[in-house]
Amino acid sequence: MIVAIDGPAGAGKSTVARGVARALGIRHLDTGAMYRALTWKAMAEKVEPSDGAALAALARRTSFTFGPSGIIVDGRPMEREIRSRRVGHLVSMVSAHPAVRRELVLRQRAIVDSEDAVIEGRDIGTVVCPGADVKVFLTASAAERARRRHRELLRSGMVITYRTLKRELVRRDALDATRPVSPLAPAEDAYVIDSTARSSAEVVAEIIGLVRAAQRRS
Ligand code: C5P
Repeated sequence: MIVAIDGPAGAGKSTVARGVARALGIRHLDTGAMYRALTWKAMAEKVEPSDGAALAALARRTSFTFGPSGIIVDGRPMEREIRSRRVGHLVSMVSAHPAVRRELVLRQRAIVDSEDAVIEGRDIGTVVCPGADVKVFLTASAAERARRRHRELLRSGMVITYRTLKRELVRRDALDATRPVSPLAPAEDAYVIDSTARSSAEVVAEIIGLVRAAQRRS
């Protein structure tokens, strides 16, 4: 069983994907964390975010694994570092390079090829797992997405105004949706779920319903 969840920033993908994975007892794979981790490592090693070939080479010599508290890069837990604003600002430039995507998509497929998973990102239903059993495109209004992200960041101790955050979120979505390779877009056969006025528990329950229906069909 492969459940693909795509959507813009702050739509609640991670919370929902985690909930669905837990309910089904299967793995959760956050592909955004891999693009963020590569961006973080590029910053640390002074690789230019505009240099696709160097970034792809960097990706090839990096190990990405996932533990109970998130992504592990070259053996080091990195979940906190990859959520910084600086990484958020540069990640769309890094992820737009076709050579980078080729490398990370290979890694993502290798992880989900051998086991059931809920996999979240931007191009999962369209490129990474076009044969996924259930495809969801999760969205919400920009104001609601920014509100949720703002709450999350304040809780983690980051100081940022709602307006600035909304501007950054809308900018990142625009970059992700307009890049030539694997842009953020719903697959033709994706269920579009608008979570603006809904709790994550409701959305998880709806997706579990879609999974049960897919299981009955197969
Ligand atoms: O999911 P998250 O917001 O953490 O993703 C960070 C960035 O990684 C996105 O803005 C996008 O540029 C990139 N990304 C991508 N393809 C994916 C997942 C994330 O290009 N499958």
